[in-house]
Formats: sequence, structure tokens, C-alpha cells
Amino acid sequence: MSVPARIDLHTHSTASDGTLGPAELVRAAADAGLDVVALTDHDTTAGWAAAVAALPSGLTLVRGAELSCRWSGTEPALPLHLLAYLFDPAEPELAAELARVRRAREERGERIVRLLQADGIPVSWSEILAGAAGGTVGRPHIAQALIRAGLVATTTEAFGRGWLGERYRLPKDDIDVFRAVALVRAAGGVPVFAHPRASRRGRIVPDELVAALAAAGLAGLEADHEDHSPAEREHVRRLAAELGLLVTGASDFHGTHKTVRLGAYTTAPEAYERIVALARGVTPVASG
Ligand code: AMP
Ligand code: FE
Ligand code: FE
Ligand code: ZN
Repeated sequence: MSVPARIDLHTHSTASDGTLGPAELVRAAADAGLDVVALTDHDTTAGWAAAVAALPSGLTLVRGAELSCRWSGTEPALPLHLLAYLFDPAEPELAAELARVRRAREERGERIVRLLQADGIPVSWSEILAGAAGGTVGRPHIAQALIRAGLVATTTEAFGRGWLGERYRLPKDDIDVFRAVALVRAAGGVPVFAHPRASRRGRIVPDELVAALAAAGLAGLEADHEDHSPAEREHVRRLAAELGLLVTGASDFHGTHKTVRLGAYTTAPEAYERIVALARGVTPVASG
């Protein structure tokens, strides 16, 4: 009898706010015993080529991204994350939107740094940009500056309310979530709502929004994620079943920026196969 495939559909590299380079990430995924790994950096496909080039034999790579979105149906607008799998990275409208969001992240990061500096906190924007090393900039990079300055001990602490979680949290100009679903579909990709019920991250969207997104082309919901309680996972599964959506599980690995390990949560082969069958952009890559 064969062992079921181990499939982790949500990871980050140094192309965004992870700490392993894309090549190191695929090697670590193979070492962790994964059969399939998705590279889903925030708002970028910049890590794809290096991950493909370094792909160890026996590992399949799903090329993807995690799109920074917002829902404007509530005040203030709610930020949310959309995983997009196997889309065509050259589709102009989607590529332009991702480039715009990356610029918006830089503007917002710089504004956060100015707020910190105004309170006498010694952090420097150029140093934070250097820390991101050309990857999509995010609050985890600012968190590293707070750690280097000795103000907090861990990334988790840096995301506390007195710091980047609330006091120094600023919104960024994210993509309208309905537009994002449409753009991902138009690029032949498969959109899956990341950690849709993660109340510990902040406000969560109502089920009615998930239903509206499903009608607009959303394909799935991420249920098994470390930020979901057992009750939240169950809620997501039930909602997915009601709406005919596929269900995924994934680590959302960020290297040392988070404590979760590769493969800590996984996706069932049937759900993975549904994603592959729906995709029209690029194919999964397996090395020979
Ligand atoms: P940003 O995309 O700049 O808004 O920053 C959000 C990112 O920070 C998420 O994608 C996670 O990688 C990370 N993050 C959010 N909350 C936490 C937390 N409590 N501890 C560690 N990392 C976090
Ligand atoms: Fe992240
Ligand atoms: Fe996310
Ligand atoms: Zn993520």
C-alpha cells in the first residue's frame, strides 16, 4: 500500500517575508518529506524561477502567490489574503496589480517607520529595505528591525498591540478581493481564501462574503492552518461543503519568522487534484 502524498500548499521564501531562499525552501520541503509544495510569496512570483531550478527529484512544485486583498463591504475595509495557484505570471492586468501592491507595501512600510521614529524608536527604512533584499516588504521585516534595536525579543512580540499589531499598524492599498478573484481566474489560476477564519489575526469576514466570492469564482478555502482553532477549522469545512468549495491545509511556513514547520498541516490529494484540474495558467513542475 502506498503512503498518501504529503502536500503543503502555502509557504513563503525570501521573495517575500520568509527566511529561506526559494532554492533552500524546495530543498527543505524535500527534506521534510513533502511530495508537493506550493511557493506562495506575498504579491510576487519572483521566487518561481529559482525554486524550479533547484527542485529536488521527487518533489512537485506548485507555483503560486498570496495576494494582499481587501473587502470594502465593512468600515474600515477588512484586509484578507487570497492564495492563487498556477496562474500565468505574464497576464498583464494581474502582473500590474501585483506590482502596484508591492509599491503600496513600500510606501506603507516607510510610513510605519516614520511613526516609529516620531516616537523616538531607532529604526531605519533603508536598513529594513536592505533586510528584505529585494523581496516583497512586509511587517516581518520591520519586526526584525525592532528585534535588532533590542525593543522586542521575538517576531510574535513585535506583532503585539503596542507594536506592529495595532499601535504602529497602518493599512496598505490592497486589491479589491472580487477583482483579485476575477484577475486570478482570467490568468488561468485557482483562487483559494487563505486562513479565512483566523480570528486571532483580527476581524474576520462573514460567511455571506465567502458565499459571494464562491459565486464570483473562488475555488477553495484553507481550513487547516495554525491560526485556526479546531472550531474554526470545522466551521470552514462545513462552509466549504455547503458552497461546493475545495478545502486545503498548509503550514504557511515563513522560515524563522514563524515557528511553524513545513508540512505541519497538509492538503488531501483529492483537493490538490481538483486545483490542478481547474488550472489553465501554468502546470505543476516535477523534476526528472
Ligand atoms: P503585512 O503583509 O506587512 O501586513 O504583514 C503580515 C505578515 O506578517 C503575515 O503574512 C505574516 O507573515 C506575518 N505575521 C502576522 N502576524 C504575525 C504574528 N503574530 N507573528 C508572526 N508573524 C506574523
Ligand atoms: Fe507573511
Ligand atoms: Fe496570509
Ligand atoms: Zn502566507
